[in-house]
Amino acid sequence: MYTNEKTVGMKKKNQGLKQKILFTTLTVLALMAAIVIGLAYKTITDSMHEQTRDYMEKQCKLFLSILDNHYPGEYGIGQDTSGAYFLVKGEEVISDEYDNLDRICKVLDVELSVFGRDMRLMTTICDENGERVIGTIASPVVIRDVLDGATPTFYTDAEISGIERFVYYEPIFTQNGEVIGMIGVSRPTESVREDVNKALMPIAFMFVIAITFIGIIVVAYAERTIKKIQMIERFMDKVASGNFGDDLQGEVIRQNDELGQLARNSVSMQKSLRTLVEQDALTGLNNRRYANNRLQQVYNRLQEKGVGYSICLCDIDFFKKVNDTYGHDNGDEVLKAVAKVLKKNMLGNGFAARWGGEEFLLVFEGKTLSASLGVLENALHDIRELEIPAKEHIIKVTMTFGIVEATEQDDIDQILMRADEKLYYGKASGRNQIVW
Ligand code: GH3
Ligand code: MG
Ligand code: MG
Repeated sequence: MYTNEKTVGMKKKNQGLKQKILFTTLTVLALMAAIVIGLAYKTITDSMHEQTRDYMEKQCKLFLSILDNHYPGEYGIGQDTSGAYFLVKGEEVISDEYDNLDRICKVLDVELSVFGRDMRLMTTICDENGERVIGTIASPVVIRDVLDGATPTFYTDAEISGIERFVYYEPIFTQNGEVIGMIGVSRPTESVREDVNKALMPIAFMFVIAITFIGIIVVAYAERTIKKIQMIERFMDKVASGNFGDDLQGEVIRQNDELGQLARNSVSMQKSLRTLVEQDALTGLNNRRYANNRLQQVYNRLQEKGVGYSICLCDIDFFKKVNDTYGHDNGDEVLKAVAKVLKKNMLGNGFAARWGGEEFLLVFEGKTLSASLGVLENALHDIRELEIPAKEHIIKVTMTFGIVEATEQDDIDQILMRADEKLYYGKASGRNQIVW
């Protein structure tokens, strides 16, 4: 059926809307989370690097002052018979003092290396076989910065013995300012990275929780909103298919936002459309289309529940003459006045409709013929009393009524035909009367 197909289509469309809302919101949230976590990572990393550098510089200074205490005197460099360098401090050769180096290393909690010029002479760093990494040459960048540039420098990406490390190098000067080597203080990058991750973990965790929470709220809100949109769509769908009998209910109609406005607009559109479709523009009475729908309903009520009804067709007498004498506009005024009388008399008894030109249909719901006759007598009396002013004249009209009570055997056409026959008879036998 038309309505079902529409509803299925609508459902698909609204699920699309839900997915879109979800996708947009969650994408923005995820992007935001990525940016915040990224920024946090960078800030923490930078701060860790800074801290590591400060720490290493401090440990390096400490190491140098320990050396000064142990071996008073100046630094010097020499070469043995094989051409290898050795470092001297005061009277002592210090580049083979491993016991001291290891002890200091333990206290300072960093790796220590001592360089003669660019060659690592002594170190606490071991390779994978447990051998100390000695005799290796510093990288060209370090030689340029620390030895040639005579400047302490910190590197976050040095590789020593195949492992990435943070290294702080401090040049060793002789008394006359010549650089003869350097001290290297290092730490595997991995240990610093672990610290960064540890600091980052609570932030990331908090964000995941927050995003999940926001996600749940968004889903719930989207679902509620879409349900309301679906309600409005179903309502509009009925209006579109000409069913004006439904009401739009629920909180959406009272909602003080665009959706509420849409719902209220839909209801007033339904009302306007209903007036356009079901009302006669001239008299304000229900029109024939409305009457046909209602006839079907009273017919069904009789069939299903045994609630009876009576039907009356009535027609203004000699109306053509009114038009011919007073003009079409005055004829219209007569139609309006007659309609008003009929409407008033039918109140609480059923309904009146304009059936055609100057012909009206009255439907008495749940009323027997005799009960309906009383109403008609009043109506005819009121119509006879009507005085419709037309310039210097007063228009007077009469009306003929044909009424029948429906039986269960009648279909709608049959009962209308029977009423029409009564009306015809009334016209033929003098008009201005009620025929039953
Ligand atoms: P009878 O008593 O047999 O019903 O005679 P009558 O003149 O009323 O009937 P007839 O069918 O000959 O004429 C009906 C007239 O009603 C003709 C038509 O121009 C007029 N009429 C129909 N609709 C309207 C309308 O909306 N406004 C006006 N002013 N006249 C209308
Ligand atoms: Mg007439
Ligand atoms: Mg007529």
